[in-house]
Amino acid sequence: MAERVIPLHPHRPAPQALHVPAQALVPGASLADQLGRPLRDLRISVTDRCNFRCSYCMPKEVFDKDYPYLPQSALLSFEEITRVAQQFVQLGVRKIRLTGGEPLLRKNIEILIEQLAQLRTPDGQPLDLTLTTNGSLLARKAQALKDAGLQRVTVSLDGLDDAVFRRMNDVDFPVAEVLAGIEAAQAAGLGPIKVNMVVKRGTNEHEILPMARHFHGSGQVLRFIEYMDVGATNGWRMNEVMPSAEVVRTISAEMPLLPMEAAAPGETAERWAYADGGGEVGFISSVTQAFCGDCNRARLSTEGQLYLCLFASQGHDLRTLLRGGASDAELAAAIAHVWQGRSDRYSQLRSQLPADASSATSGRRVEMSYIGG
Ligand code: SAM
Ligand code: SF4
Ligand code: SF4
Repeated sequence: MAERVIPLHPHRPAPQALHVPAQALVPGASLADQLGRPLRDLRISVTDRCNFRCSYCMPKEVFDKDYPYLPQSALLSFEEITRVAQQFVQLGVRKIRLTGGEPLLRKNIEILIEQLAQLRTPDGQPLDLTLTTNGSLLARKAQALKDAGLQRVTVSLDGLDDAVFRRMNDVDFPVAEVLAGIEAAQAAGLGPIKVNMVVKRGTNEHEILPMARHFHGSGQVLRFIEYMDVGATNGWRMNEVMPSAEVVRTISAEMPLLPMEAAAPGETAERWAYADGGGEVGFISSVTQAFCGDCNRARLSTEGQLYLCLFASQGHDLRTLLRGGASDAELAAAIAHVWQGRSDRYSQLRSQLPADASSATSGRRVEMSYIGG
């Protein structure tokens, strides 16, 4: 029998302890990491569980009934999440994305959204508050999410063909229900909706054109994501990555595309417009065109560890500080200290390796379902 691959468990290796630095923060001082990158975007994973088993993320053989998911007591409570988020906002965060696992599986997620929607930047502005979901529960929940103060959603959808989609989610979930979720989100005013399609060569590249045709002119922005080597369990191989340049050529041959300017620094997707005015498409090319240079994203894991990069192998333990009675100022100072020491640029380093090298780190990388996409 093949040896069971044990993914990096949330409790292995131990997170790095966080200390409150002796020197307090200078209020209003702008915060930059070692490469001069500001802190702008916070992704919060609210659960490590999911009802799908996409093979590129939570392969069934590993994430089975015996998988050691986090117990409820390990999860940050909504109050803890909001308190930490508030400190991040003080330090420069302007956008919060809820993710997972599948964030809509977290019970009463609307209450967390209500709390986060109350947060204001130092100059009194609300945050850009969004959520990434597999769409399976969206038809049921879209209106409640909107009412709670969510602004937008991103829905993951890897194909329109029902058989292909059922195979990719690996739990036989029908595509029609995700499409109904997208429509419900649109009707509830959770737009502009983004739709993320991971392209895996040999699995769903024949879905590129049907997806492009479907979303062309819809006002919903389709984004193609290169299959990434996140985590340690998906058996990633370079020859299964379809470079974005190839996807651009495939679409352009039928529906010509024109390059667009990036909307904001640090944006992950390269934007292209349909020449006929049918809207735009995005390309997230973290394998073939690393965008670490202006990466301004921090990630808060389900159990309150701060990760500085999607490919990190260790987090910084905010939960212990939170539960140990740290004040808001101490929390903010600890986060700032970690950010100031950040030099992560995994994708850039990997792109400098030979094509057949599988990884740019020696440590075991954390799973995407644990720190969120
Ligand atoms: N469950 C939600 C969903 O699927 O939208 C949120 C969490 S999921 C980890 C976030 C995003 O990461 C999804 O759009 C998913 O397609 C993407 N993702 C997961 N594994 C990936 C991989 N190996 N390469 C590229 N994207 C991946
Ligand atoms: Fe679940 Fe999202 Fe991962 Fe798919 S990509 S297994 S839906 S967390
Ligand atoms: Fe940011 Fe790390 Fe991704 Fe580079 S590899 S863009 S540093 S998350």
